[in-house]
Order: sequence, then C-alpha cells, then structure tokens
Amino acid sequence: RLEELSITDALTGIANRRQFDMVLDREYERHTQTAGNLALIFIDIDYFKNYNDFYGHQMGDQVISAIAKMIKSSIRHMDFIARYGGEEFVVLLPETSAQGAYAVATNIYRAIDRQMIPHEKSLVSNHVTISLGITVFNGNPKISQDSVIHTADKALYRAKQLGRNQIYYQPLPSVE
Ligand code: GH3
Ligand code: MG
Ligand code: MG
Repeated sequence: RLEELSITDALTGIANRRQFDMVLDREYERHTQTAGNLALIFIDIDYFKNYNDFYGHQMGDQVISAIAKMIKSSIRHMDFIARYGGEEFVVLLPETSAQGAYAVATNIYRAIDRQMIPHEKSLVSNHVTISLGITVFNGNPKISQDSVIHTADKALYRAKQLGRNQIYYQPLPSVE
C-alpha cells in the first residue's frame, strides 16, 4: 500500500512522475527489442496561472483533477497516463504510430473542449483549453530515452508557440 502511494499522485489518483519514469524505462526497452512504435503525448493546460489567480488555487486543483479524469476516459486501455508536473500530463501509447497518437490526442482535446469549463482569463478561449505535443519513438536504440522526452517537450512548446489550444506533432531527429 505504501509502495503504491509513493507512485500515485495524491490530487488526481493517477500515476505520478516517479511511476511514469519507471513505466517509460520498461516501455523504452521493450520497444527497442521489438523495434515497435512508442508514442508520447505531453499535455499542458493553457493560461493556468491566470486561472489560479482569478478563480483561486482550490478551483485550480479541481480543474486539474477533472482534466486528469477526462484524459483517462479518452485514452485506450493499453495507454498509460501520469501527472508529469503541476498542470502537465503525459500519455504513453505502446505500439502506436503518429496517426494513432494523433487520433487519441484529438479524443483528449475534444473531451476537454466539450466540458466548457469557464476560464475568463484565458487569452485563447472563454473556456479551459489544453495544448498537446506528440512524438513517436520507433524503437531505434541509437535514439536515447532523453532525446524522446526532449522531442515530446519540444512538440508541446511548439503547440504553445503557435497559439496554444492545439495539437503539434514533432518527429524525432533522424539518425543514420
Ligand atoms: P501556458 O499557457 O504557457 O501553459 O501558461 P500557464 O500560465 O499555464 O503556464 P505556467 O507554467 O506559467 O503556469 C503554470 C501554473 O500552474 C503555475 C501554477 O499557478 C499552476 N499550478 C501548478 N501546479 C498546480 C497545482 O497543483 N494546483 C493548482 N491549483 N495550480 C497549479
Ligand atoms: Mg506548465
Ligand atoms: Mg500551462
């Protein structure tokens, strides 16, 4: 029970960063052995500092919980979700191509869009929105785990830079 608590996020009940690191290690190894596709989706709530400042930290916590639940109900049974940081989530999709990951990302995006959670201080909408960054590891052992994470982070950064409230796919840098 203690061990389970140490890998679970207290606010949302989903996996925490620590569990994510463990699962990523395992899946990275497995996909290098089978040369399979492992997709990653990084998700970050847009203008969430403004949300907290306007609605208060408690309401902010409720939004984080609600979004965790919505992401969870939008992914497939084989996918894995974790809270990566404050208002950031990550989804790992085993045996999944870029097209498949894009379809799952779209499901997540729409689920949150449908909720129409009011956000008066967002600069992109009247409702809470998210940005999503996707990348796909192809099982090539020459590509490090760090490089996969870095690329998924870059994809999310690009989604933010391009105006937020959108999905961006960033391919991994090519190796010979
Ligand atoms: P961006 O669209 O660029 O993502 O803007 P942002 O304001 O969401 O990004 P930034 O990283 O500047 O702020 C994230 C904010 O998320 C900071 C903090 O107020 C809030 N936050 C982080 N963790 C928690 C949490 O556990 N609970 C609550 N209520 N707020 C949190
Ligand atoms: Mg953030
Ligand atoms: Mg944010």
